[in-house]
Amino acid sequence: MILEINNLTKKYGNNTALDNFSVTLTNGIYGLLGPNGAGKSTVMNLITDNVKRTSGEILCNGKEILSLGKDFRRKLGYMPQQQGYYEELSARAFLLYMASLKGLTRREAKYKTDELLEIVNLTDVAHKKLGSFSGGMKQRVLIAQSLLNNPEILILDEPTAGLDPKERIRIRNFISEIAENKIVILATHVVSDIEFIAKEVILLKEGSLITCDTTENLLSQIDNIVYEVTVLSGEVEQLEQKYNVSNIFRRGDEVIARVVSDSLPDELRKTKVRANLEDLYLFYFGENKDGKSEKA
Ligand code: ADP
Repeated sequence: MILEINNLTKKYGNNTALDNFSVTLTNGIYGLLGPNGAGKSTVMNLITDNVKRTSGEILCNGKEILSLGKDFRRKLGYMPQQQGYYEELSARAFLLYMASLKGLTRREAKYKTDELLEIVNLTDVAHKKLGSFSGGMKQRVLIAQSLLNNPEILILDEPTAGLDPKERIRIRNFISEIAENKIVILATHVVSDIEFIAKEVILLKEGSLITCDTTENLLSQIDNIVYEVTVLSGEVEQLEQKYNVSNIFRRGDEVIARVVSDSLPDELRKTKVRANLEDLYLFYFGENKDGKSEKA
């Protein structure tokens, strides 16, 4: 499966939500990462054809998805954000209902529903109402729903939103397991959702693609500019105003701050540390000074 997106643009009046966006996707998990308003939903909505594009093309194995129509939609699975609909339905009833909307026969729907309930580990509570489920359980039902038609392209919108850390890890591992032989697009602004499971990360900012690459290659860009800087408590505010600071760790009168910067003065007490994806996010999206945010 190859999904080729070429010069995709979406404008709302004078506002360009997505500007000449081009990427080529093959099987594996892609993290679609960017702050609110970056254009992540727009990308997803254009692939699912929920909104009309202004220009550009999306090719599935070489064919325009708009011409493929139903044949493309059949290949597509979409997990929306939780919205609190269908709270009165049981998990099984909800999945059967979604299966009927997707055009599965009753027999297929029943078989698939049982299979997916098992996969998402909800068989025991399948008869209970969605309204009584925890956030993590609801997310698993929504993922199950997106898999009813065995999609080859799976789009997940903030799949860990509102979950506690344990549930997050569980959902993340689960996504990683089901991602085989599929293109999975996982939109998030939570770096840890994709750090270890994404084949490549697509960074979006203000409607434009910054880059699409493996985590390893992305991190190599900032390999030499992530430091732990030790300052006195009273100096930390000044440091934060000037540089992109991620973590702050207090130790007595001193503070150890994690800083992403290529222009730290020599006299600062600092140690170079290994970059992670959160540092990269800060480098591109942090508000401060010498990150790419000002240069872009
Ligand atoms: P994200 O999902 O990354 O938060 P969106 O794709 O929702 O970003 O939004 C990208 C830009 O498009 C934002 O500036 C947003 O205000 C604008 N936008 C999105 N949907 C609409 C709409 N229906 N009408 C007008 N502007 C929109």
